[in-house]
Amino acid sequence: MTQTYRSPWMTGELDMLRATTRRFFEEEVAPHAERFRKQHHIDRKVWIKAGELGLLCMSIPQEYGGQGATFAHEVVVMEEQARICDTTFGFVPGALNGPGFFHGTASHEQLLRWMPDIASGHKMLSVCITEPDAGTDMKAMRTTARREGDDYVLNGNKIFITHGKQAELSLVAARTGGAGAKGISLFMVETGKTPGFKINKVLEKIGQNGLDTCEVFLDEVRVPAGNLIGGVEGKGFGQLMDVFVRERLSIGVVGIASAERAIELTLEHAKNRKMLGQTLWDFQNSKFTLAECATEARIGRVFIDNLVKDLVDGKPLQPNDAMMAKWWGSEKQCQIVDRCLQLFGGYGYMSEYPIAQMYMDARVARIYGGSNETLKDLIARSL
Ligand SMILES: Cc1cc2nc3c(=O)[nH]c(=O)nc-3n(C[C@H](O)[C@H](O)[C@H](O)COP(=O)(O)OP(=O)(O)OC[C@H]3O[C@@H](n4cnc5c(N)ncnc54)[C@H](O)[C@@H]3O)c2cc1C
Repeated sequence: MTQTYRSPWMTGELDMLRATTRRFFEEEVAPHAERFRKQHHIDRKVWIKAGELGLLCMSIPQEYGGQGATFAHEVVVMEEQARICDTTFGFVPGALNGPGFFHGTASHEQLLRWMPDIASGHKMLSVCITEPDAGTDMKAMRTTARREGDDYVLNGNKIFITHGKQAELSLVAARTGGAGAKGISLFMVETGKTPGFKINKVLEKIGQNGLDTCEVFLDEVRVPAGNLIGGVEGKGFGQLMDVFVRERLSIGVVGIASAERAIELTLEHAKNRKMLGQTLWDFQNSKFTLAECATEARIGRVFIDNLVKDLVDGKPLQPNDAMMAKWWGSEKQCQIVDRCLQLFGGYGYMSEYPIAQMYMDARVARIYGGSNETLKDLIARSL
C-alpha cells in the first residue's frame, strides 16, 4: 500500500536494517507469538538475540552499550513489529521507552553501571510509576522513599507495570518529601536482589497478552542512596515529563504503522473473498472504506514522518507535536483496525486472524502514554 510513498528519513542503511529486522521478527517472534501470549512473556533468549543484533537500546550512546543510532532506526523496528501484527516482543516499552526514561534521567555513573546489561538483553527494565489512585494524576502518587543513613526505604503499591515480573531492574517513582510534583524522585531497584519488591500478580488483559503487566508491592524495599536516579531528590516529575515526549511519538508511530498493515491485510482479503458472484473488493463500500482508511493513515504518516525527520536532523521534538502524534496515531489505529475487521466479517472476530489480534492489541494505545483526553486537554492549553 505504501509502495509509492517512501518516508523522507529512509536511507539505504535503514533498508538493510529493515531486512534484518523483518527476518528476526518472522523467524524468532511470529512463529511463537501464540505461546508467548499464553505465557505472558517472550522467551528471554529471543530478547538476548535481539540484543546481539543491536535491536535494543538503539538510540542509546555506545559508551553505555547502545547503538548510538537515530530514532529513525527505532521507527524501522517499530514498523517491522507492527508488520507481524504482534506486540509480544514489546519493543516500545522494553527496548525504547524504558531505556529512554533511564537514559534521560540517570547520571553517567548510573548509566555505565546498568545500561550495558539492558542493551544486551541480559537484564530487562520495568518502569513503575502508575498507582491505583495515581494514573493520569501522577502528582497524587503515594509511594514513599524515606532516607535512612546511606539507604532509602521504599513503600507503596504500583499497578499496570509492563515487564513487571520479567524485569531484573525497575525504575521506581516515589515521594521523597512534600506534596505535588516537587516531592517525586526516581530510584533504581534491582528487583531479584532486593527483599520486599513483590509482584502480586500478572494481570489478565483484553490484548497485548505477550507482555506481563503486573501489580507491584514495595514493602520496606531498601536501596543504597546511590540508586537515587540523577543523584538529586525531587527531580523525578520534571525528568519524567521530558522523557514522556518521545514515548508519545513512539505510540503514534506504532499506531500509524499498525493501521497501514491492517489496510494491507484487508485489501488482500477483500480481493480474494468471493461472494454473491463477485469479490468483496467489487463492492463500492469496500473500496470507499479502504480508500478512506488509506487516506487517513497517510495523513498521519506524513505528519509523523516530519517529526521523525526533524529528530534525525537534530531538531528538538516539541511536546505538543508529540502529543498530537500520539492521540491522532492511536485514534486512527483503533478506527482503521475496526473498519478493516468489519470487512473480514466473522473471520475478523476469530482470534487466530491477525486482524483480530491487532484489534485487541490496539485499544490500550488510547489509554497509556497519557490518555488521549489528557493530551487533548494539554494541547488545548497551548492554543
Ligand atoms: C497495558 C498497560 C500497560 C501499562 N504499562 C505501564 C508501565 O509500564 N508503567 C507505568 O507506570 N504505568 C503503566 N500503565 C499505566 C498507564 O500509564 C495508565 O493506565 C494511564 O496513565 C491512565 O491512568 P489510569 O489507568 O489510572 O486512568 P485514570 O487516570 O483513572 O483515567 C480515567 C479516565 O479519565 C480520563 N481523564 C484523565 N484526565 C482527563 C482530562 N484532563 N480530561 C478529561 N478526561 C480525563 C482519562 O482519559 C480516562 O478516560 C500501563 C497501563 C496499561 C493499561
